[in-house]
Amino acid sequence: MNCHVCHSSKTGKFLHQKGVGVHQNLVVLSQVDARKVTSGDLSLYVCENCGFVSNSGFDDSLLSYGARYDNTQIRKQKSNLICLTIQ
Ligand SMILES: [Zn+2]
Repeated sequence: MNCHVCHSSKTGKFLHQKGVGVHQNLVVLSQVDARKVTSGDLSLYVCENCGFVSNSGFDDSLLSYGARYDNTQIRKQKSNLICLTIQ
């Protein structure tokens, strides 16, 4: 695999994991729904020339950004604060 940034062929795989959820911030309402989320493979390579890290297992056909995708970081932080207060 060649580097996407500098096109060097000096790359090395350092992590491979099968069955990783493809969406980082997908909101699911139940454990059953969580087990049904779309998954793919994670294969991380690092470029020995420039240090860029890429995922050769990335497959954009698996992605679907619908109404349940929530990329709001602030709301999550507020939720954590509320949990800490209740405990
Ligand atoms: Zn590179």
